[in-house]
Formats: sequence, C-alpha cells, structure tokens
Amino acid sequence: MNLNQFERLKSEVATKASAAQILELEDVVRRVIAGQIAEVALARRQSATVLAHQCPRCSSQQVVLHGKDKNGRQRFLCRGCKRTYNTLTGTPMARARKCHLWGEYLRHMIGHLSVRKIAGTGIDLSHVTLWRWRHRFLKAAAGDNATSLSGVIEADETFFVQSFKGHRGWARGKPPANRAARPSAWGALKRGISSEQVPVLTALDSAGRVYEAVLSSTGGVEGALTGRIAPGSVVCSDGAMAYVKAAVKAGAEHRRVIVPTVTPLATKALPLPTRRRKRGRLGLGRVNAHHERIKTLVNRRCRGVATRYLGSYLGWNRAMLREGFAGTVLLDRSLA
Ligand SMILES: [Zn+2]
Repeated sequence: MNLNQFERLKSEVATKASAAQILELEDVVRRVIAGQIAEVALARRQSATVLAHQCPRCSSQQVVLHGKDKNGRQRFLCRGCKRTYNTLTGTPMARARKCHLWGEYLRHMIGHLSVRKIAGTGIDLSHVTLWRWRHRFLKAAAGDNATSLSGVIEADETFFVQSFKGHRGWARGKPPANRAARPSAWGALKRGISSEQVPVLTALDSAGRVYEAVLSSTGGVEGALTGRIAPGSVVCSDGAMAYVKAAVKAGAEHRRVIVPTVTPLATKALPLPTRRRKRGRLGLGRVNAHHERIKTLVNRRCRGVATRYLGSYLGWNRAMLREGFAGTVLLDRSLA
C-alpha cells in the first residue's frame, strides 16, 4: 500500500467508520499482528531507533540515516565513532538472520520443545542456529528481574546440582571441574547441601514481583537482598540469619515461618488437624510453589540445564508467569 492510499484509509476510518466497524477492524489488525509478529516487532523497533537518535555503541547523538541494507532495513551512521549500525545492533537479536522464522520459532519455544524437536518440525534452520536463537531469547528474558519488593515478601533458597551440560572440556582434556564427567541423572555425589549444589535465591512479594539470583554460595543471600526490600515490608523466611539481617538493614519486619514437619509415624500418633488454613496467614507457600515450577522447568522439562545458563532459564520462567505472556512479549524484549 502506498503512502497516499494508507493516509486515505486512516482518515476514512477516523471519520466514516461506525463503532461496530472499528471493532471489526481491531480484530483484523490483531489477527494480522499475530501472523507477522517478527515484522511488527521489527517495525516497532525501527521507529524506536529513529526516535532515540542515539548510537548504541558510543551513545553519541550525532547520527544520520545511512541508506538501507539488502533486506530493506534502515542503516544509520554515527559521526561520533564513525561506525554504522542497524535497528538490531546492541540487542540480543543483533546479526540474527531469517527474521521471518522468529514467530514460528517462538511458538515452538513457548511450547517447551527442545532444540532437537524443533529441528524435527522441518523449520529451515540448522541445529546450531536453533540453539543460538534459544539462548538469545532466554538472555532477553533473563534481564527482567524485580529491583524492589514491598508488602509481604516471601524469601527462600532452593538448590540445583551444579551442571556442565554440553561442556566439551572433558573431551578436550581441559575439564571445567576437578571430577570425572558423569550423566546428569546421577545427581550429586555428596548427600545434602555441598559445593556440588548451586543455591538459587527467590524473593517474591504480594504484588507478584519476583527477584531471583543464582548465588555462588548461601553466604551471598544477604548481599543479594540488600537494596531490594522496601522499608516497612514484612519479610517471611525460614528464619536463617541472612534474611533477618537483610530485613533489619532495610527497615523491614522479619517473620520466621516454621513449617511443621509431619512424618508418617507422627501422623499415626497424632492425626493431622483438619482445620483449614486461615486466609491471609503468613507462610512460604508462594515461594515454595515458585520453586516447584522452576524445578519442573529445569529438571523435568529441560532434563537439567548447564549452571552457566541457569539464570536465563529462571528469567524465561518469570516471563512466562506474567499475565498476558505471549511470544510477542519475548520478542519485543529481545529487541528492546
Ligand atoms: Zn557511535
């Protein structure tokens, strides 16, 4: 559609269309957007880049339009660093080709298909590209972590077995850890919490904001929470000293939640009380449920992920939890 036709269409819709027709039009536009999510996201990104008028490398404002590339996309020239860039430079999708397949790929990814299974659907991409795209989208999702939590905050940590999945160090004679390679199904060799376990801290508040961090040891809990708890909040935890200290430092209240340990033998001696849990009572239910979801994603759906990518997968899980999540959200974030 040329510019004149488009302008005429816009003015006719604005002046002549009835309310019912506008609703119908809205539906048509929504369907077209759903069918061309990559094109729409790219167009959105392009107008944002033009509007920003800033070099993504050196942040100079002295940028000019610099023709179009062979795909018809706008290029820009920065007079500050004398380099050119396009709308994707500086985003996780920089230099990614075949953008017409992004929509299809995201649909498979949201359906939790593995790289191998996506390749099996007949998509025109190599295994290597499929794997790289996965990590581009994951990286985009991982950047989105709550910066501040308030209200009733539940905090706890969970553990994942340290993994070097896919690492070629052992085959190349440079093992990444001082141990033999082994199948992930074996789990950790030591029982209980040890250096083989990677702690993941989760803190979530009553407004649904989630903060997660992959820690090198449990000693990092207090540091990770510093500056993220709003004064006047109520922090619920299992009572570990790090949470108490973090809450006190932030000017928040701390509540220790004691989870009753019920063993089959104890149940026999004293049957479980059948009273219903009081509404609004403080607990660790939401953080425990969140841990169960990330365990399902990482350990069951993905059959374990390498520790170095754990943060990305946690971000992906957070993105999927959000209301109204769709492939477009992940794509827009990748192009942000
Ligand atoms: Zn520049």
